[in-house]
Amino acid sequence: APDNTTVPDEVRARHAELCRELDDHSYRYYLGNPIVSDAEYDQLMQELRDIEDKYPILITQDSPTQKVGAPISVDFAEVEHLVRMESLGNAFNTDELSAWADRASAEVPVGAYLCELKIDGLAVDLVYERGRLIRAATRGDGRVGEDITLNVRTIGVVPEQLDESVRPAPELLEVRGEVFLPVEDFEKLNQRITADGSHAPFANPRNAAAGSLRQKDPRVTATRPLSMIVHGVGAYTPAKDGAEDVAFTSQSQAYTLLGEWGLPLSDRYRVVATMDEVREYVAHYQAHRHDPAYEIDGIVIKVDDFALQRRLGSTSRAPRWAIAYKYPPEEVTTTLVDIKVGV
Ligand code: NAD
Repeated sequence: APDNTTVPDEVRARHAELCRELDDHSYRYYLGNPIVSDAEYDQLMQELRDIEDKYPILITQDSPTQKVGAPISVDFAEVEHLVRMESLGNAFNTDELSAWADRASAEVPVGAYLCELKIDGLAVDLVYERGRLIRAATRGDGRVGEDITLNVRTIGVVPEQLDESVRPAPELLEVRGEVFLPVEDFEKLNQRITADGSHAPFANPRNAAAGSLRQKDPRVTATRPLSMIVHGVGAYTPAKDGAEDVAFTSQSQAYTLLGEWGLPLSDRYRVVATMDEVREYVAHYQAHRHDPAYEIDGIVIKVDDFALQRRLGSTSRAPRWAIAYKYPPEEVTTTLVDIKVGV
């Protein structure tokens, strides 16, 4: 294996430069003010990965290839997530998708895949204690996020209290999902803020959602028609008082329970048995990308069974039991730098 002395100076310098640049882009992105497109970001990340594949000595815990998200800002209190929040591995074509499925199938008998839309929003973590929403936080670096509870309370679809008409609320429930701004609401918001001069127009719905959610004054957030769809479970302690205890057994079964508790779910996810059906789902939404009311940047495929998810486990930044299939970018790379965007 190569050691430090075999890494050419110019490679080492380029590596350091890419780390700095990617960290900087991440920081801006999570504030809602990116200066490069996602495709450009992904290219820089790929260049960094290629260098690290060739010179593994350069891989440190601090490298953008090894960590989740961005450092958290000082504007909000820190919150430690009960269960770490992760990123997702990417596939940019069907070969990479098949390679992921082959790796998973070599480890466990997969059985069923859950396919869902990859919503282009921001990851948010919600904690319910005995059915009451007690905290909401950004993903942050995956371990520690920012306390945005007051802002999230302004989102209409996020229940303050879980619905107990079907079954009692659990003792503790941590759920993750995507907060986003539907495209039509984004366009109306841009018209409104441009007309009243209160804010520069946002470049896209994701930036608008990020900026809106990270307002210091929740009354401003309340004027932004944010929505949320839940797509994961963190910590979970079932209800104490007996008969109605339920355990989560699979992603799809968890969604059914979360839906019964009144949490906002997508109605576009599908559970399928084969990779052919996964590829059909991917192709369908590639052709119908604008059918949903919100922007998507790909498809997320998850091994449905929770026991198999646990067996597959995670790398330092992403689960091995899931992958994001990224659609090719639609945006023109120069538009972002031309538009003045703000938080
Ligand atoms: P990611 O966006 O590729 O995937 C992880 C995230 O997907 C999760 O945290 C979750 O919030 C979200 N997600 C949406 N729908 C989901 C679903 N159905 N199930 C599970 N998760 C779902 O990874 P990331 O770490 O959040 O960010 C990296 C990506 O962000 C880059 O590939 C790039 O596209 C973009 N980015 C852009 C810039 C920029 O400057 N333009 C900077 C940093 C990151």
